[in-house]
Amino acid sequence: MKITNAEIVISAVSQKQYPNDQLPEIALAGRSNVGKSSFINTIINRKNLARTSSKPGKTQTLNFYKLNNAFYFVDVPGYGYAKVSKKEREKWGKMMEEYFQTRDTLNAVILITDVRHEPTSDDIQMYDFLKYYQLPVIVVATKLDKVPKNKIDAHLKRTKETLEMEADDYLLPFSAEKGYGKEEAWNLLKKFI
Ligand code: GDP
Repeated sequence: MKITNAEIVISAVSQKQYPNDQLPEIALAGRSNVGKSSFINTIINRKNLARTSSKPGKTQTLNFYKLNNAFYFVDVPGYGYAKVSKKEREKWGKMMEEYFQTRDTLNAVILITDVRHEPTSDDIQMYDFLKYYQLPVIVVATKLDKVPKNKIDAHLKRTKETLEMEADDYLLPFSAEKGYGKEEAWNLLKKFI
């Protein structure tokens, strides 16, 4: 898909701030530093719309990006950063619950994992949380360029098995570095926007 218009509409901390123009929405979640911003920037062809390597532990907001005036990407703050205080973690949890529980226009969630590593317990918890809300999940296994070609299949299989992915959910190999998986990403996302 060609993105001709991309703008950040709001960084929200609570429901009353969410946009209310009823456009379809895709959320993006993942561990801090997993490559979420790089994924967003790569597939929408922008160098720096989503901030890369933003410091974990900073203000946690849901960033609503409006694309082509037709749909939203919602960048969810990263999880799994060890140095976040208990209070911050609780705040994050409440914000997540409010969003995933109430957002009627949310059609699917992209969960970004690092294809090099086995999904962490935080990744598993996030996947289970999304399935609890009966959301379709697209798992994007990024940093594919870092895995030797002959090991890719085994790494993807491990991702699928560790998350105990449901048959209807998608697993997409991706590399922001090489631009690999961009077209496939849009082919999947089109189903939900
Ligand atoms: P975020 O915190 O999840 O938004 O992560 P970033 O997008 O800021 O990426 C974290 C680090 O991983 C940065 O140094 C990126 O350059 C690097 N990175 C992200 N995606 C890829 C990828 O596909 N391949 C490689 N080799 N590095 C990546």
